[in-house]
Amino acid sequence: MQNQRLIAAALAAAFVLPAQAQKAGSNEDIVKRHFATLIGAEPKTAELTMFLTMMPKGGDLHHHYSGAIYAEQYLEWVDKQGYCVNKTNFRIVTEKPAIEAERAKPGPLRTCVSGADLVADNTTYRQLLQKWSSLDFYNHGADQAPPDQTFFDTFGYFGPVASTNTNEGLKTLKDRAIAENLSYIETIFELAPITPDADFDKLIASPGFNPAQLDAALAALAAKLEANPAFAKGIADYVANVRKSSAGIDDERFTMRYQPYVLRFLSPSIVFSQMLASYKLAQGNPQIVGVNIVGQESLAVSMRDYHLHMQMFKFLKAKYPEVKTALHAGELKLGIVPPEGLTFHIGEAVQVAGANRIGHGIDIAHEKDALGVMKTMREKKIPVEINLTSNEFILGVKDHDHPVELYRKYGVPFVIATDDAGVTRHSLSNEYVLFAKRYKTDYAEIKKLSYDSIRYAFLADADKKRLLKQLDDRYTRFEANIAESLSTARR
Ligand SMILES: [Zn+2]
Repeated sequence: MQNQRLIAAALAAAFVLPAQAQKAGSNEDIVKRHFATLIGAEPKTAELTMFLTMMPKGGDLHHHYSGAIYAEQYLEWVDKQGYCVNKTNFRIVTEKPAIEAERAKPGPLRTCVSGADLVADNTTYRQLLQKWSSLDFYNHGADQAPPDQTFFDTFGYFGPVASTNTNEGLKTLKDRAIAENLSYIETIFELAPITPDADFDKLIASPGFNPAQLDAALAALAAKLEANPAFAKGIADYVANVRKSSAGIDDERFTMRYQPYVLRFLSPSIVFSQMLASYKLAQGNPQIVGVNIVGQESLAVSMRDYHLHMQMFKFLKAKYPEVKTALHAGELKLGIVPPEGLTFHIGEAVQVAGANRIGHGIDIAHEKDALGVMKTMREKKIPVEINLTSNEFILGVKDHDHPVELYRKYGVPFVIATDDAGVTRHSLSNEYVLFAKRYKTDYAEIKKLSYDSIRYAFLADADKKRLLKQLDDRYTRFEANIAESLSTARR
């Protein structure tokens, strides 16, 4: 009976296949064989790019909102806000008296100009793009900071406008996602509210502080924050901003969810206040689905407090077991910090903080129990968010230096993501192309990566089901389309 049903289904499917497909198997089989010809000994990058742009991609799970907006749009927002840009250092000026004083000068004497005026001067515009993004880094000879510093400095340049016009920014990202057949983004949206506490910072820094008393100190700080109206207001304002910014974003083609983030190089009390606020945000709002910690990991404070941060996450995980965390961990390489600094970040994020996903995980080969950490990740299904362009630019890690091959070999799940596609000027499709041409994959693996980016999303179950079902339909159409195109393409 079962067999008869299968035969009937196969026959029914055969009637909708193109003529050539009927001889050659299912559309998926045809696409599999076609994909193998694109990889070959020498990858056909142009055709791979077309194929992977057309291919349905489930979600982008490692996506920084402010790093995803291109400098060109930020420059438009400079004018919308009535600011100007200093054309000698490319900093945005936001103070009214300074802006008005500049406007009073005759045009040629102005050092601070509008975005529109700046764009009109090709040379200055290009120089701005080189400061506000990674453009031209490897193909021109101007004085420049090291790549990691160039990357992190960009956020300081466009920072004054990064949190303005968020609804417009999200709409751009949505349109861009739909154009490359991406149906979901989980964006690391805005900085979690900050509530400093000088007493806590003093206590933690005092030589007599006993680490065994950390949980009690955190509990006391949490109680203090919960009684502070400014802390509560920060949370309420954040929720209001997500609601306002996300208006008109979700529809049947596209879904967006949000993560607040903690900055790891700020003081311990600020970091904890941001974490607690983030957990409360994720606990109480369906649009806010997880908590993240970000910021340059090699900075002195990030390294000094790494262990403390993981203890803080552990403390909050016990209080809010339902809240999901995606932690940037191990975005480091040999030489950037002393070797001991490479040995425990991913392990502690997984085993102490209880992270649900790991961002980057680059230094896994140096971890003191790399195999044990990967075993835990495999067994608990904790994926790594792989960001190939970002890792190549910021750390210079690419090709066989990249640990994605290690994760893949030891069965650790992973997903392909963008990180900061506006700063490094690329797209999710480009990340799939890089993966496909570097790591000798096949269609089955690429398709699984696309599905996994929904399976490992922090979406509610019903949303996840809806998006997976949608992905099935999209793949049916995509594979039929490719099969059809091959029946008419020149061989
Ligand atoms: Zn990131």
